[in-house]
Amino acid sequence: MIHNNPEAGIKEHHGALGAMPVPSQTPRFDATAKGVELLQTLQTTLDLEQIIGLFSNVILEAIPHEGYRFRHEGLALDFSEGRQSRHQASYNLSLEDEHLGQLTLYRNWKFRDDELANLELLLGQLVYPLRNGIRYLQAVESAFHDPLTGLRNRSSMEIETPRMLELARRHNLPLCLLMIDIDHFKRINDTHGHLCGDEILKKVGDIVRHTVRASDMAFRFGGEEIAVLLPNCNPEGAHRLAERLRDRIQAQAYCEARDLEVTVSIGISALQTGDSRDDLFRRADEALYRAKANGRNRVETSPA
Ligand code: GH3
Ligand code: MG
Ligand code: MG
Repeated sequence: MIHNNPEAGIKEHHGALGAMPVPSQTPRFDATAKGVELLQTLQTTLDLEQIIGLFSNVILEAIPHEGYRFRHEGLALDFSEGRQSRHQASYNLSLEDEHLGQLTLYRNWKFRDDELANLELLLGQLVYPLRNGIRYLQAVESAFHDPLTGLRNRSSMEIETPRMLELARRHNLPLCLLMIDIDHFKRINDTHGHLCGDEILKKVGDIVRHTVRASDMAFRFGGEEIAVLLPNCNPEGAHRLAERLRDRIQAQAYCEARDLEVTVSIGISALQTGDSRDDLFRRADEALYRAKANGRNRVETSPA
């Protein structure tokens, strides 16, 4: 389980961690006391960054280290503190076959076998709070996402929209909104069945998620409607993105049906001075209505 990681680099150092001299004597270690202290400390939070930070802190005396990095690919987590020095002790953490991430400790001198044995003992206390933290994160994530499309849901939209509008106003940055609606979706459902309709929603959701930038936010707004908020994006940029989405959605194959072409209509609005959130959504809706009225499978932008 212990292995070298050649990609280690020096990171900025915060807090208590950082370069330290090689200790002149072996730190004393009371496994039971440390274990109890650890459990008590780690039970105080469900926040994963805090859990790992507290773990590093409590074990620092027994297993001196200058930095750490925690990664969990499935949850897209990657955070670190201190320096990523030359020597490392790296562990893949798991509990009852559930992968809980990889923790690496770094320092400038070798980890000794007795220290690694102590570390393994203490890691045994980390995995339960870590699993609780992961469960909590997953619960929060699923409360704000639509299970079919993987897009954010309406609850998330209620929270994120005011935040994004406020940020745009405070920094005087542009912001655009796309309203995407699948064309003739009722007819597609009627002809090809609801399961096929669901597959289309899922694939359209995938295309949207993979086409927008990481800072953009895409929400399943209604049945077959998707709203995308584009911070720091002007109407020209929003139009280019909308055309790319329209193209990709039309080019995608669905439900193994050769004769099935799926298209979307898209309405765009840009945040104006004095706009309420409702104004922004209303203008995108009006533009979408025009895209439908003008023949569908097209993009329309609301006039300023
Ligand atoms: P237009 O081009 O004007 O948008 O026509 P449309 O048929 O897409 O619009 P309409 O609003 O009449 O129909 C929307 C359809 O979307 C009706 C509803 O059954 C379907 N729908 C909504 N949610 C889901 C879903 O989760 N799965 C499936 N399969 N269909 C859904
Ligand atoms: Mg609709
Ligand atoms: Mg529709």
